[in-house]
Amino acid sequence: MFDLFNPTDDHQSLRELVHDLARGVLEPQVKEFEEKETLNEPLLRRMGSEYSLFGITIPAEAGGHGLDATASVIVHEELSYSDAAFTLSYLAHEVLFVNNLYHSANAEQRKKYIPPVLDGTALAGMAMSEPGAGTDVLGMTTTAEKKGDRYVLNGAKQWITNGNVGRYFIVYARTDKNNRQGLSSFIVDATTKGFSVGKKEIKMGIRQSPTCQLIFEDLEVPAENLIGAEHGALRHMMRNLEIERLTLAAMSLGIARRALDEMVRYASVDRSAFGKKLADFGQIQQMIAESYARYRASRALVYETALKVNPTSRESLSAAAAKLSATQMAEYVARCAIQVFGGYGYTREYPVEKLLRDAILLSIGGGTNEAMQKNIMKDLRDTMSPT
Ligand SMILES: Cc1cc2nc3c(=O)[nH]c(=O)nc-3n(C[C@H](O)[C@H](O)[C@H](O)COP(=O)(O)OP(=O)(O)OC[C@H]3O[C@@H](n4cnc5c(N)ncnc54)[C@H](O)[C@@H]3O)c2cc1C
Repeated sequence: MFDLFNPTDDHQSLRELVHDLARGVLEPQVKEFEEKETLNEPLLRRMGSEYSLFGITIPAEAGGHGLDATASVIVHEELSYSDAAFTLSYLAHEVLFVNNLYHSANAEQRKKYIPPVLDGTALAGMAMSEPGAGTDVLGMTTTAEKKGDRYVLNGAKQWITNGNVGRYFIVYARTDKNNRQGLSSFIVDATTKGFSVGKKEIKMGIRQSPTCQLIFEDLEVPAENLIGAEHGALRHMMRNLEIERLTLAAMSLGIARRALDEMVRYASVDRSAFGKKLADFGQIQQMIAESYARYRASRALVYETALKVNPTSRESLSAAAAKLSATQMAEYVARCAIQVFGGYGYTREYPVEKLLRDAILLSIGGGTNEAMQKNIMKDLRDTMSPT
């Protein structure tokens, strides 16, 4: 029988490997790096050098695994069970840079930039959002002006995951001032003169993952670092947003599964009141059962969407629906977990308060839930058959 969640033996083996890695390697470092609000940078590099978890969606001949979006979902779901914050930094490197670059770059760019990011020698990220333009991404004001064999970049990017640890970034900038869609993208090396890292944000959740401003002042980028056609970045920006939304949805699944496991154990085994286990009370049963049903429904939608997301076609409607459903579900389930734990749930001694703080980011990053609602409505309208 077809297994939606592990369609092949390769998927099953990958899930087992990442499951064990999350429990054995990620879990023990969560508290320390959450409190320090610092990325466990050596561990992120080891995801490439030791565990070979970079390049999931790029072909084997380029050094990757040649797997599909389902495999990427599996990795993000399993890692997030233990630490969604670390997983977001993994996602920025693996999905926002490696996947995007490979599927948009030319042969020389792949040859030069893919090997160091696959083995973790260089960490990476993607810079699209700006201080004055997030949802309104086409309103970005960072410019790239062509001067001979270089582009000169000026402007600032906001909320950039891995901003203070990344060596390479895909940077989106305006190359046509007369056209809102006139954007281009570039491979930018953080060691170049004119590149600086601004403020690092102090955040509610996702604390281990660094979120920084990047500033470009007359930053010169060689013309050969232009990705794809000049003014033509929108296509690959939108295509990569789909797998980003899918993997953010997968992170929500990991958080929700963890919250469920925690509350089922606490209510059934750990905690009694009035001479009974908490799980004997109908209102506690309602929270757990509702959480479970919503988790199962979102999980099916995310994995069904994963079957359709690939680098050659567009799947914006399903990706938006999967992200909207899974992120709302994870917030609900994590909130229920805190309620089931009562006062203990509100303390940092137990893992459930972190789950809610981390889950909320997933309703904002990669496009807010309001943006997902708008995208869904637009796509439904566009596909409506004329009557
Ligand atoms: C921890 C973290 C990590 C991130 N990592 C990255 C990264 O690596 N790279 C990157 O480029 N970006 C990154 N982002 C940015 C993220 O994608 C943006 O925060 C997000 O797209 C929202 O943009 P904004 O924050 O400017 O909010 P705004 O666009 O200002 O939105 C504010 C509110 O208005 C609503 N809104 C805006 N426009 C509309 C509209 N037309 N209709 C209805 N409601 C609307 C929004 O939904 C939201 O509720 C990150 C953000 C965070 C918090």
